[in-house]
Amino acid sequence: MLSAELKLQIEEATTRLKNGEVVGFPTETVYGLAARIDSEAGIKRIFSTKERPFFDPLIVHVASIEQAKSCTSEWNEMAELLATNFWPGPLTLVLPKSKNISDLITSGLPTVGLRWPAHPVAQELIKAVGVPLAAPSANKFGRTSPTKAQHVREEFGQAVQVIDAGASEIGIESTVISIKFLNDQYQLALLRKGAVLQTKMNEVLFKTRLRFQWVEAIDKKESPGHMQHHYMPSMPFIVCRNPHLKLSELSTILNTRLAELPDLIDGVKIIKPTQAIKKIEFLKLSNDPAQAAREVYSQLRAASLRKPEALCFIQMPQHKGEMWESIFDRLYKAASLIVD
Ligand code: AMP
Ligand code: MG
Repeated sequence: MLSAELKLQIEEATTRLKNGEVVGFPTETVYGLAARIDSEAGIKRIFSTKERPFFDPLIVHVASIEQAKSCTSEWNEMAELLATNFWPGPLTLVLPKSKNISDLITSGLPTVGLRWPAHPVAQELIKAVGVPLAAPSANKFGRTSPTKAQHVREEFGQAVQVIDAGASEIGIESTVISIKFLNDQYQLALLRKGAVLQTKMNEVLFKTRLRFQWVEAIDKKESPGHMQHHYMPSMPFIVCRNPHLKLSELSTILNTRLAELPDLIDGVKIIKPTQAIKKIEFLKLSNDPAQAAREVYSQLRAASLRKPEALCFIQMPQHKGEMWESIFDRLYKAASLIVD
């Protein structure tokens, strides 16, 4: 049962969405910035509020499999199998879009990303609105995703309502996979790693008679939004993959290499130090990858507020396994520099 306060917030959000506004809302992955899929004004406002380029498509959030079916022209056995096993949850399925999904949402692609979030507040909001919600993460383009309502307020100020339901439980964005049916079998491509792991999907898939293979998304257009730099905090952040480097050696490398970086990569402003770095702060994450995922973005944000000259994460041999790969996907993209 949701509290009376949350119900009021959902009611206000529903009205705002009806008026073509955007609203911040909690999901189990990260906080999203929502607009109704049938509101062109709302969808455009997502891009302008986030300063997001139009080539980066939005994920459509639904509150039932029936609703997902209304957004795709090809709900197949594979979609049904994965949805019944992993929804509601942090898995986005990319399928051919139906006519009611605008090109603005999909960046002109013939496909749409669909997800049924597990968060009860997200579900209540979508049900109250009665229409699926297009929603990217509620942060300025290229920057760290929000995992608390306060983060969303820091990004957009008071102009954007945000429903406050505490911290997101998973902490990193959904796993994204595309589903195609070609030459008598399903072709699955892992477009973004997340908390739904490929091995877990395989466990489900191997129990069925469905023919499938995992493929690489070869065409870059089919896998947009995968810039080399993304999720960047507002300070120089470095991932060091060599745990044997001495602090003095690391400082020397950073001062030379950070100064050499361009100011902008893929439209994302690279955060560089304004003067030679004298003191490095170190990011410490839990050894438990589920906990590390939960805290990584809020730690990056908290460190940004302390304004250190540089923040560094040392990659250790124990950071192994699929969930760590999902976390490192974010850490590498958040980094101004990776040192080996
Ligand atoms: P987010 O930034 O969490 O809103 O997630 C949006 C990301 O989902 C995009 O940057 C793409 O990587 C992926 N995505 C959404 N829709 C599609 C689609 N139709 N085809 C491929 N990837 C998609
Ligand atoms: Mg995002």
